[in-house]
Amino acid sequence: MPKAPEEIIRDEILALTGYHVPDSTGMVKLDAMENPYRLPAEVQVEVARLVERAALNRYPDSDAARLKARLREAMQIPAAADVLLGNGSDEIIQMLIMAAARPGATVLGLEPSFVMFRMIAGFCGVRFVGVPLNPDFTLNADRVLAAAAEHRPALIFVAFPNNPTGNLFDPGAIARIIEAAPGAMVVDEAYHAFADRTFMPRLKDYPNLLVMRTLSKSGLAGLRLGVLAGAGTWLAHVGKVRLPYNVNVLTQLVADKVLQHQDILAQQAAAIKAERTRLFDELKRIPGVRPYPSDANFILFRTGTADRVFNGLKQRGVLIKNLNGSHPSLVDCFRVTVGTPEENGKFLSALSETVNA
Ligand SMILES: *Cc1c(COP(=O)(O)O)cnc(C)c1O
Repeated sequence: MPKAPEEIIRDEILALTGYHVPDSTGMVKLDAMENPYRLPAEVQVEVARLVERAALNRYPDSDAARLKARLREAMQIPAAADVLLGNGSDEIIQMLIMAAARPGATVLGLEPSFVMFRMIAGFCGVRFVGVPLNPDFTLNADRVLAAAAEHRPALIFVAFPNNPTGNLFDPGAIARIIEAAPGAMVVDEAYHAFADRTFMPRLKDYPNLLVMRTLSKSGLAGLRLGVLAGAGTWLAHVGKVRLPYNVNVLTQLVADKVLQHQDILAQQAAAIKAERTRLFDELKRIPGVRPYPSDANFILFRTGTADRVFNGLKQRGVLIKNLNGSHPSLVDCFRVTVGTPEENGKFLSALSETVNA
């Protein structure tokens, strides 16, 4: 008799519940930080032409040289930095932790923050230390520095702006952490398109800084393309655990094409930022609702009795992210993605109705 799966699979994997993506068919979908806007018709036609001619019988360019050159220009990656691409930035997080997973290695992150840092550490059998943010979701640099001195993490992850809280941390505090980090510091700029700050130019100052970006939040979530920029001394080794053809032919072609129309993505980001301001102001007006300021394309807010509100919204056809129970500092909190003015309107009416019910 072969062994049961439970005797083979690692205990920490058995203990996990898989990442759950709720069914959103027919709903106003404001739960996943997607850009609500499609590409304009003329760009769709250009993309269709490319796809028509794509050599799908061939493996992709493993190095994705053309796309990397486009990304360097689009993201103003310093010439001295190297670039590593992932099938989404999730895959880059996985490559980083996998490559650093020496026995006894530790990865450090902040909490609450992006849950994949902790989850992927678990997949790789690496210990994760989560340092709590201050109650107002600002970064407590002294606490991070003390934890770094104690645990000597191989990698430190900071999302800038942070998910799910939406705020940018103090860049001076982040700089202090980079300077004290015993290993590499990854600044995850997934929401860069909606924020006015970046660590990209600082790559030249810090040999242990790695800056991560993604196209997912700025309109191309379906393509799955993540970008890591940093010193070749780091990326040459991390790149060895990259699977040879991780960025597929269609993603390479389409991303390169859409990045030739960066003005469109920038216009969409500007529309989302304008709507973010309106959504924030409207949320403030609803009694019992407290929104937190955001530099991302979503807003964190708190209400009483989150689970009742969540179900009320769902019954009214609106799906947002319920964070209640995900972390002690997020009791009764939600994260709503900024959608189109119409979607945001539907969400706001559903929320007012539910809160007043
Ligand atoms: C959404 C998100 C990612 C993952 O992005 P993909 O490129 O779609 O894998 C990474 N980091 C943070 C902070 C995010 O919110």
